[in-house]
Amino acid sequence: MSRFLSSRYRDLEAYTPGEQPTDMQYIKLNTNESPYPPSAAVLEAVNAEEVSRLNLYSDPTCKKLKAALASLYGKKSENIFVSSGSDDILNFSFMAFCEGSKRPVRFPEISYGFYSVYAELHGVDYTAVPLSEDFSINVEDYCHNDATVVIANPNAPTGIALTLAEVEKIVTSNPDQLVLIDEAYVDFGGESATVLTDKYDNLLVVATFSKSRSLAGARLGFAIANEQIIADLEKIKYSTNPYSINRLTLLAGEAAVRDNGYYMDNCKKIIEMREYTQKALRELGFYTTDSKANFIFAKSEQIGGEELYLALKQRGILVRHFTKEKIKDFNRITVGTRDQMDALLEAIREILGRK
Ligand SMILES: *Cc1c(COP(=O)(O)O)cnc(C)c1O
Repeated sequence: MSRFLSSRYRDLEAYTPGEQPTDMQYIKLNTNESPYPPSAAVLEAVNAEEVSRLNLYSDPTCKKLKAALASLYGKKSENIFVSSGSDDILNFSFMAFCEGSKRPVRFPEISYGFYSVYAELHGVDYTAVPLSEDFSINVEDYCHNDATVVIANPNAPTGIALTLAEVEKIVTSNPDQLVLIDEAYVDFGGESATVLTDKYDNLLVVATFSKSRSLAGARLGFAIANEQIIADLEKIKYSTNPYSINRLTLLAGEAAVRDNGYYMDNCKKIIEMREYTQKALRELGFYTTDSKANFIFAKSEQIGGEELYLALKQRGILVRHFTKEKIKDFNRITVGTRDQMDALLEAIREILGRK
């Protein structure tokens, strides 16, 4: 730390992203990327001719991408916000819709690690609400609040989802608070709350192209809400970096939306593979949550979470282990292809067999 860092940030603990090692070729099951490449339409859209136009700024209004998303979700362009990854949108949302002790924020204690980082970054008071014993979210904990509510649905790293009726209950019981639903994993079996945004002006749904749409490296996220909420987010974006989405990513995103069927087919394959792997892990004595995401959250009585993580890494397989006390026995395993899952299961059998 230099002596120039603002005192506001001296104690800030930054988010720790999943490792992206370059020392060898791993089977990467640690950051919930898609095992499938972007669709052919995306590869075609991002061509040499477009690269040659990188001397020009991108469209700050993101008109075409917004129109494509609006049509896919049955909304108007005014209901759509896009930025460089949903992390960007979450950051803007904490900036825009939370304020110190005046408008604090509430989110589950075991959830996306970035929520507390954004709260700290923007000096927002927050309550991290414990999950139930079985890692589910207790809906009542989020009803009739005096705080902005942030919930990942399905939740991460548990994969457990709330029903649409449960989300609606949270939204209707907090008419004067913003409810942000982070739907990074919704395409893998959750129920999207985007269908409710015309009905409720306090609901903001945030989503990403990083997981189900195979564009993690392109950095693209979107949000759907009432047009006033979207206008607030635009205000923050235009006060920080109006060109936050580069030209190539805008084109890739637009092509991906047009090719929605390809991605939804991939989601089906991933769901099948999730069920296959979960069943095999349970047969090996693992406990797994009922995940509706593209990852499995699993623990074994026979081996500690960190020990399994390290043994798998030694065998060239990366999974995500968290050090938080309540979940330290677990690993979060991204669902990949059949070959990747079979390699994982074989490695686990070998590790458990040797103990
Ligand atoms: C991966 C993830 C994000 C971030 O996605 P980007 O669009 O890549 O920034 C947001 N929320 C949750 C819960 C995630 O798991």
